[in-house]
Amino acid sequence: MPEPIIYHVDVNSAFLSWEAARRLRENPSAPDLRTLPSVIGGSEETRHGIVLAKSTSAKEYSIHTGEPLISARRKCPELLVVPPDYGLYVNCSRRFIELLREYAPVVEQYSIDEAFCDMTGTTRLYGSPVIFAEYLKDKIYETLGFTVNIGVSCNRLLAKMASDFKKPNLVHTLFPSEIPAKMWPLPVEDLFFVGRSTSKRLHTLGLHTIGDIARCDVDTLRYHFKKHGEVIWNYANGHDVELVTDHKAANKSYGNSITIPHDVTDGDMAKGFLLSLCETIGARIRSDHAFIGMVSVTILDCDFQRQSHQTALLTPTNVTENIYETACQLFTQIWDGRPIRQIGVSTGHVTDTECQQYDLFSTEKNEKLAKLNAAIDSIRTRYGEDAIQRARFINSEQEHMSGGLSREKRTGVLGEVPPET
Ligand SMILES: [Mg+2]
Repeated sequence: MPEPIIYHVDVNSAFLSWEAARRLRENPSAPDLRTLPSVIGGSEETRHGIVLAKSTSAKEYSIHTGEPLISARRKCPELLVVPPDYGLYVNCSRRFIELLREYAPVVEQYSIDEAFCDMTGTTRLYGSPVIFAEYLKDKIYETLGFTVNIGVSCNRLLAKMASDFKKPNLVHTLFPSEIPAKMWPLPVEDLFFVGRSTSKRLHTLGLHTIGDIARCDVDTLRYHFKKHGEVIWNYANGHDVELVTDHKAANKSYGNSITIPHDVTDGDMAKGFLLSLCETIGARIRSDHAFIGMVSVTILDCDFQRQSHQTALLTPTNVTENIYETACQLFTQIWDGRPIRQIGVSTGHVTDTECQQYDLFSTEKNEKLAKLNAAIDSIRTRYGEDAIQRARFINSEQEHMSGGLSREKRTGVLGEVPPET
């Protein structure tokens, strides 16, 4: 068995770099935003705008991501504030992931600007994993015009910690033997999964560095932090126990698939099935008061060939229309026109909060859709699933909600009982 090798590839100040790269592409003599005190920030007029990304020189003014723009301006009056461009980010993210897929056998997108690449077994092909990571980093810059950090290790946790070391444009390793020297001296705040309230409590317990956590008795941590204590103890020791973002391990994915009675060769019809699946998935997510940050689509064709693609969302959502739109994009990417036998949608990266820093993009449209979804849910709860359905399903043979549990189980309404004979 070859030694596992994992890369964590993280775009440096993604939103700002992407904007800078676009400006340079459009006008090669334009000033490079990355070299100026500049930030990407939400609307200043409403006075709610915050810093979404910052340049290195903005950082020198001690401007932080998530800080209100007003306070950032106070620190640096000549600060250049660029409005966010959702479409650009989605595009850059897609091209970034596509490039990784050209080289890595397995790519798992983790967020809009981060991905894990499983490079296990590629040494024969590419040589030393560290030298190849340098090559890949430079390749991304030459091809796409932005820099990344790459963390190299044997598991995802350590690779992710490594990519967060000194930035920008660097490759770092963090193999288990390097943990005491490279990871243990860092403050507890730097450990993955340690939030502000946890770090405060860790300090009051006299635990200031990651090494302090690692050397602490796991039972002590469990006593103070329950299950979370055990998780951070494992992380501090470099053990990759399930790298998940949701605290409640509750329902880690919502998915559905259907086997179609006749093979489907019409793309529009296939999308109808996708929509009917998204309807039931969306309803389940909303009834759990959850949000999902990842969508994947799988199709099985008539020769039992399976195709599957997944993508991370910029903003976690529980809106049927958003899930459906993403599912359609994925479907278009993977479907080669062969007759489809089975089609499935699944979602993941479950959280119980809508968003942290990206909610500036949840436009009016999104709010309207969320309200519409809530209204549809309450109508269906009161009057049944069929009380309301999308126009495209009227006079259609397709079920407007499908997959997973049978209609009876979903609705709790049993069909007519056959007469006794
Ligand atoms: Mg990043």
